[in-house]
Amino acid sequence: MTHTVDVVVIGGGQAGLAAGYHLRRQGVDFVILDAQSTPGGAWQHTWDSLHLFSPVAFSSLPGWLMPTQSGEEYPDAGHVVEYLSQYEQRYQLPVQRPVRVRAVSRDSGRLRVKTDSGTWSAQAVVSATGTWWRPFLPAVPGQEVSGRQLHTVNYRRPTDFTGHRVVVVGGGNSGAQVAADLTTHPGIDLTWATQRPPRFLADDIDGRALFDAATARRRALDAGTSDTGGVASLGDIVALAPVREARDAGLLKASPMFSRLTADGVEWADGWRADADAVIWCIGFRPVLSHLAPLGLRASRGHIPTVGTRAVDEPRLHLLGYGDWTGPASATLIGAGRPARDASREISMLLANGTP
Ligand code: FAD
Repeated sequence: MTHTVDVVVIGGGQAGLAAGYHLRRQGVDFVILDAQSTPGGAWQHTWDSLHLFSPVAFSSLPGWLMPTQSGEEYPDAGHVVEYLSQYEQRYQLPVQRPVRVRAVSRDSGRLRVKTDSGTWSAQAVVSATGTWWRPFLPAVPGQEVSGRQLHTVNYRRPTDFTGHRVVVVGGGNSGAQVAADLTTHPGIDLTWATQRPPRFLADDIDGRALFDAATARRRALDAGTSDTGGVASLGDIVALAPVREARDAGLLKASPMFSRLTADGVEWADGWRADADAVIWCIGFRPVLSHLAPLGLRASRGHIPTVGTRAVDEPRLHLLGYGDWTGPASATLIGAGRPARDASREISMLLANGTP
């Protein structure tokens, strides 16, 4: 059976919910299809001790400020899951789950959304599937012989590594936070390997300043003035309390990047070796876009060329929340709202006039 609807939003994480909020305001008939069994998107799967890098006022979706979490200036992931669950209910967003979208294709002037539980026919589609389900692992010499390799998505808690020698790779926030987390538990022999020396942001800078920097960069680029450098100009690692404490205690010392994996660990170009029971790669993600393959839109670096959030070669498709290429800071809680609003307005015009 085929369901007919004006708009299908794929993904019920924060970006999909922000889209739902604005589509509702535009009076559009839509459905949100989410592969997870429960609300919260990727926040349900992060490591136990993860806290946001911004206070609630800078971590909220459109319409409703995230409530404060008692005793915490920076809420934890569980609090975000609770907020997103309540957000869905508060705005009665029509989320169907678990429904996994397999393929989006063109069909008689509409878009056909094929899922593991039925097919939807829509005039427009918003893809908001995030990046969590496409962790990036590099091709490194020695991979075929090496021992246990994990990604950020597999890391939960330091006690899983009691008595182990662990190499954490990555000089960004995830790498620093996972490495710091491991220092909180005795009996773990930690090596932290980074491509370049870690760049900590000043201790008083958190997500507020990052959002301001991203916005200033977007304004400068829009106005045609010089690139401010955005968030990257400030540094790579937000010095959250646990990171600061580990760094100041001398426990977060970075080694340069090793050049190959061995059967027992890792080896640097100069022949120096470190034994490891596990290597945890914290080096980022790629956008989850395979369901859009039948549309034939992929271009360089796996991104789909966009104007704002709209796919250049398929004006009925909008992409939300994948990174700066789909809106400045769009892959953050506070940054998801604006591109979602712009996308919803364009979709509303498309539905009314037949053109975006
Ligand atoms: P997701 O939360 O991944 O949601 C996507 C949803 O789409 C999921 O429910 C998924 O199951 C579903 N989906 C995927 N494919 C399909 C399909 N084919 N069919 C149907 N459904 C599908 N941001 C902040 O603002 N503050 C922070 O402090 C912060 N810390 C972060 C820390 C880490 C370690 C990471 C990785 C990210 C952090 N972020 C932070 C960034 C960002 O806010 C989160 O990554 C957020 O989860 C992205 O939301 P999303 O809705 O785009 O994607």
